[in-house]
Amino acid sequence: MPELPEVESLAEFLKERAVGRTVLAVDVVAVQALKTFDPPVTALGGLTVTGVARHGKFLDLDCDGLHLVVHLARAGWLRWRDDLSGAKPVRPGKGPLAARVRFAPGDDGLAPGFELTEAGTQKRLAVYVTRDPREVPGVAALGPDPLDPSFTVDTLRRIVSGSRTQIKGLLRDQKVVAGIGNAYSDEVLHAARMSPFKIAGTLTDAQVADLHEAVVATLREAVERARGLAAKDLKAEKKSGLRVHNRAGQPCDVCGDTIREVSFSDSALQYCPTCQTGGKPLADRRLSRLLK
Ligand SMILES: [Zn+2]
Repeated sequence: MPELPEVESLAEFLKERAVGRTVLAVDVVAVQALKTFDPPVTALGGLTVTGVARHGKFLDLDCDGLHLVVHLARAGWLRWRDDLSGAKPVRPGKGPLAARVRFAPGDDGLAPGFELTEAGTQKRLAVYVTRDPREVPGVAALGPDPLDPSFTVDTLRRIVSGSRTQIKGLLRDQKVVAGIGNAYSDEVLHAARMSPFKIAGTLTDAQVADLHEAVVATLREAVERARGLAAKDLKAEKKSGLRVHNRAGQPCDVCGDTIREVSFSDSALQYCPTCQTGGKPLADRRLSRLLK
């Protein structure tokens, strides 16, 4: 799933390529992906892209004051196309293409654009056309952005204080902190040498400071790695930069211990016992339930 660093890189990528271009049309192929009806998606035609922003994991194209807001969900992606002038119209219901944004031809005669695709059968990719991005409920509900300078140690201390939630779940909650998902919460907790099951409210001041540093450094490093790469390469880059996420069975880069996994019904977390849990493997609840 694209998380803050990938969406940030996509936003920067689109800023360079799309700002100043005129929208020819937005073709929504997967009808269920379009979550708004007023203004209609056709209202974007003829408008110029004036800015690109990221809100949590949402991508926001400002087109003369109308906003095309996109959430890529678990299996969505954005592909830039240098020339869509020859692209065939796509019929709904077939394949991964969810929507296509076409721009007017530039001085070079090419009509570029981008496609939003979603793999798999669970279709969660969401597209919104709004006058204000905060009209998107998921954007309005976002917690503070960890890359914003206002996200300080004090901000994080206020977030964890009194919380009875496990720290892994708290970091993934978009209403608490914006942009962190399953992958980067694993990475942040590994960098902070902290158990994913630790109850947030029990963190000491020193641990909150360590966690804050891990959040900011992990995300900034990931953004740096992804910066400048063409959109199509970002997914590979994300995989290569991860230290524990999706690396169960492999040695930890830091200590050499074997990275372990805890499985849940629809996801899994990975961690290093030596770095994060005092050398003790965490109980895999699904396994222990089966063993009872
Ligand atoms: Zn380790």
